[in-house]
Amino acid sequence: MEKGGDERHILLVSFPGLGHINPTLEFAKRVVRLGVKVTFLTAKIALKSIPRSSPPLSGITFVGYSTDYGEGRKPVDDNVAHFMSEIQLRGSNKLSEMLSSSAASEEGGRQLPFSRLVYATLMPWAAEVARAHHVPATLLWLQPAAIFDIYHYYFNEGYDEEINQANNSSSWSIHLPGMPNLGRDDLPSFLVSKSKDFEYAIPLYKEHFTVLQSFDEGPPQDILVNTFESLEPDALKAIPQLNLIPIGPLVSLIQDNQNSSDYMEFLDSKPKGSVIYASFGSHTPLSVLQIHEIGQGLKTSGRPFLWVIRDTPNDESWVNYVGEMEKQGKIISWCSSQVDVLNHPSVGCFVSHCGWGSTLESLGCGVPMVCFPLWIDQMTNAKLVQDVWRIGVRVKKELQIEIVKGEEFKRCIEMVMMMGLEGEEMRKNAQNWKLLTQEAGKLGASSDLNLNVFINKL
Ligand code: UDP
Repeated sequence: MEKGGDERHILLVSFPGLGHINPTLEFAKRVVRLGVKVTFLTAKIALKSIPRSSPPLSGITFVGYSTDYGEGRKPVDDNVAHFMSEIQLRGSNKLSEMLSSSAASEEGGRQLPFSRLVYATLMPWAAEVARAHHVPATLLWLQPAAIFDIYHYYFNEGYDEEINQANNSSSWSIHLPGMPNLGRDDLPSFLVSKSKDFEYAIPLYKEHFTVLQSFDEGPPQDILVNTFESLEPDALKAIPQLNLIPIGPLVSLIQDNQNSSDYMEFLDSKPKGSVIYASFGSHTPLSVLQIHEIGQGLKTSGRPFLWVIRDTPNDESWVNYVGEMEKQGKIISWCSSQVDVLNHPSVGCFVSHCGWGSTLESLGCGVPMVCFPLWIDQMTNAKLVQDVWRIGVRVKKELQIEIVKGEEFKRCIEMVMMMGLEGEEMRKNAQNWKLLTQEAGKLGASSDLNLNVFINKL
């Protein structure tokens, strides 16, 4: 029998990075709207990035666990593998403690017990902990369905050998069901890179698939995916033994008209469609050399720009550089709402690393993109943006050269913003995707109905 809303309680586990917290929080809000209580578990360092909302997010309780990553020490300064194992160790302990006290409350305690654990991407260990406590678990996949499919083929269907042979020649490509042909640079970077920085990634993603295979909920197993039906119709159906359920886009596209930040004033002062917005997400590091090449591209485009640079050098030459660049544009270290920027009529192009959050936000605001993917899923996201949804162009990397030159950024910016055929088509496609993305996010649309079905099964 279906349980009443007041008896259902989801324990939601998220990786503590903003690109994960934002969509997981959006998921929590939608679940609460359906009358289900949510407890949101992540590392304490991430809880402070959750925007204070007014009124408070009723129905969601936040719980944090401590790590040895306090103020000032960041995973990128350190060893990512160590950070991941720290999250797993501290997160599992906290989760186990919470599930034990939930079990105790089933026997008459005051707390509402958990009906289900929903664990987001990068948190496969949470499903194991839930199983040990006999609590059912569902994966919330925060990236496109296409990325999930690629990992599935790699880990489960024997495509690993072919992918391990991937090389940079233009003649190498792989055809995976439900997917366009993918070259080496279109695949998640850690599948093809031998870099030590990625050593942690293969076992971690593999664990996701091992955990899914070991669950015995009766096929096909449900996986909630941060995408929507019309965006990835083939990728969503590509794995018959799994039920990929689109419940996205997990982004809030509502513009805050009260946002009176100085960067919004800057945008207000510029003509429609004239500004280049450049931003590369919440954590991917860029070298100083690369930052200067991006700057060169922005400058030589001759257009106004709004450029987010998170970690800036604190020296005089940087201050001088910023002073020089700000004759043409504006540099900020962060914007409180990227959606407000992308929704602004003066923004004509988004130079982006193609994190999935940023990509969905660009789709939802109808802004064509210059794609500068840096790692992992961003490579495939950029491929989809350029060749499938056709709302952007990807910068070309010269062979053996890590840094993308300023002229290449300029070339791509011009292609997106100028009057030529290609630019016209991208801008038109971006407007079409804006309508489809906004439609998909509405109450009563297929993603909302899918979420309802999932919740009613709890
Ligand atoms: N973001 C923001 N302000 C900024 C830049 C980014 O609020 O100045 C948000 C953006 O809206 C997105 C998230 O940070 O929701 C970045 O997520 P994404 O998946 O694009 O990239 P990641 O940070 O995971 O690389």
